[in-house]
Amino acid sequence: MNTENSAALYSRAVEVMPGGNSRTAVYSAPYPVYIRSGSGARVTDADGVERLDFLNNSTTLIHGHAHPEMVAAITGAVGRGTSFGMPTPVEVEYAEALSARNETFEHVRFTSSGTEAVMMAVQAARAYTKRPKIAKMAGAYHGAYDAVAVNNDGSGSLISHAVTGNPEGVVANTVVIPFNDAEGAVKILREHAEDLACVLIDPVPWRIGLLPADKAYLDALRAFCDESGALLISDEVGSYRVGYHGAMHLLGSEADLTVLGKVIGGGMPIGAVAGRRGFMSVFDPSKGAPALPHSGSYNANPVSMTSGVVSLRLLTEEAMERIGAFGEQVREALRATIEAVGLDWEVNGLGSLFRVIATSAPEGYPSPAAAMKRLHRELLDEGIHLGDSGLGCISTPMEEADIAAFATAFDTSLRRVLA
Ligand code: PLP
Repeated sequence: MNTENSAALYSRAVEVMPGGNSRTAVYSAPYPVYIRSGSGARVTDADGVERLDFLNNSTTLIHGHAHPEMVAAITGAVGRGTSFGMPTPVEVEYAEALSARNETFEHVRFTSSGTEAVMMAVQAARAYTKRPKIAKMAGAYHGAYDAVAVNNDGSGSLISHAVTGNPEGVVANTVVIPFNDAEGAVKILREHAEDLACVLIDPVPWRIGLLPADKAYLDALRAFCDESGALLISDEVGSYRVGYHGAMHLLGSEADLTVLGKVIGGGMPIGAVAGRRGFMSVFDPSKGAPALPHSGSYNANPVSMTSGVVSLRLLTEEAMERIGAFGEQVREALRATIEAVGLDWEVNGLGSLFRVIATSAPEGYPSPAAAMKRLHRELLDEGIHLGDSGLGCISTPMEEADIAAFATAFDTSLRRVLA
């Protein structure tokens, strides 16, 4: 693989940025490939090599790169001014469009990232209930906010442990519950019932396996929240894309607050908190000082709003069905290769999201993660971008031939990993 220009860029980058970039997940030893441009389902790297992109900025881009309609709309928005410190018509249009997609999204608040939206949802729950504690699922990832950056390493441990040098008080106020174990979760929740502001879940949590929450689990958490007064928050920053009305709706439940991000920005920075009017009223300044003041210089900026409006419009039920079917095809093809080479690895996911999970280290590898990293490099060699955590997704510009090309490249790459 010719990576001369990427290598040169990396040697400059490490001089001025820790690890050579601004996202932990983007680091890749010995250096990542640098991307020069993207179009549709493909990206071109700094050395001119074109690859199929199944990573799509960590599942953010559901319409691939530089979709012509989105480019036209975004370019138009930029030409009209990029932010004003005053509301814009397109903010109203986008809140209406999101609200129409799910009946629980009565009111919407925009932020600039999923991390901020999670933070505001947790703070809204604290402001509404006047309680300090939050509960989250063991190992689940919800972004960089300190209250949720507790036990987020994908481990199955039920201990509330800091992974970011969090102060003790923060860790003590985050209660950790098991995933998909209704009885075990409710038992722990009951011990903290009077102090709990919210139960924060991701209905399809990628870091702990990308398997959907089961109905019994969701029903038990819903019932606990109804009885205790804690708010049920569904973080769908990653999982909103699995269903036309979002993940919770697809799985047969309903949250009090939903956190959105990634695909709702159509590739531009965004986050949102959506929920019933009563809960969202903590943000409302129209009747005096709100319980939860919330500002942000780039909240609801018109470029992200415009991009979001077009992205959501293009995300029709037919489009979602099509990429969901491609997702299933990918899962089946990858599982077939894994079985054929005699590994016990898993391929999980729902709709257009999938994740290859290395459950064991093949001979010659010190850990499953080391084998995944090698697979990641081999796939790059075969013209495929996938996360080195094995996370991937389908975008709407993908065609049947792209899915077939991925299946072939995966087969070749995995066999090379084991050779
Ligand atoms: N919540 C979940 C479930 C996520 O997957 C992510 C990002 O991957 C976040 C929150 C944070 O979103 P952002 O990266 O936009 O800050």
